[in-house]
Amino acid sequence: MKSGVLGGTFDPIHNGHLAVAEEVRRRLGLDEVIFVPAGKPWLRMNAPLSAATYRVRMVRLAIAGRPYCKLSLVEIERAGPSYTVDTVNRLRAQLDSGDELFFILGWDNLAELPRWHEPRQLVRACSLVAVPRPGYDLPDLKPLEALVPGLAASLILLDAPLVDISASLVRERVSRGLSIRQLIPGPVADYIEEHGLYASENQV
Ligand code: ATP
Repeated sequence: MKSGVLGGTFDPIHNGHLAVAEEVRRRLGLDEVIFVPAGKPWLRMNAPLSAATYRVRMVRLAIAGRPYCKLSLVEIERAGPSYTVDTVNRLRAQLDSGDELFFILGWDNLAELPRWHEPRQLVRACSLVAVPRPGYDLPDLKPLEALVPGLAASLILLDAPLVDISASLVRERVSRGLSIRQLIPGPVADYIEEHGLYASENQV
């Protein structure tokens, strides 16, 4: 069994996330991609974040009808900050010993890896799969490897998908009264409208 893990704030989930899940699944032959919404991401402690109930509901709506996409509430249900290494260890504990785990992240996040909690343990606990993100260069891997020994052996670099969408863009467009239907699944757009999410500027 091969499982991908896509962690994020998903505030909101968008077509970029879904394209990443689909591309990595196809290229690596994954059996499932587990979406893990963050509880309190410690690197963004001071940034405003929508309530977990909203973010989780939007993930559910977005992945409905994609049987290989799963949802884990492991970070939402845990008190305190969300550390990826803890999440991966918890997910691994639910798998069989021969199962493979792939943590998926964008190039923007790969550059930040040395600032994460226990990055050396993380690269030992799973493979990292880095996908391109328009607007971000692939970080220089030599200094990254020096800061996080073991990274190079753990890392799988993909050159697709290239989808220029971010949750910040979605939030900004909602707050300006612009359409977001080309950026996120229809049911998620409906949900945002129904609940008046991101309408005020301080949520952007
Ligand atoms: P925000 O704009 O609020 O920072 P985001 O769009 O980056 O949000 P997150 O939920 O923080 O969304 O992202 C979760 C993971 O998905 C991260 O590893 C991020 O790099 C990756 N990701 C998000 N959007 C894309 C995209 N369009 N292409 C590639 N990777 C992406």
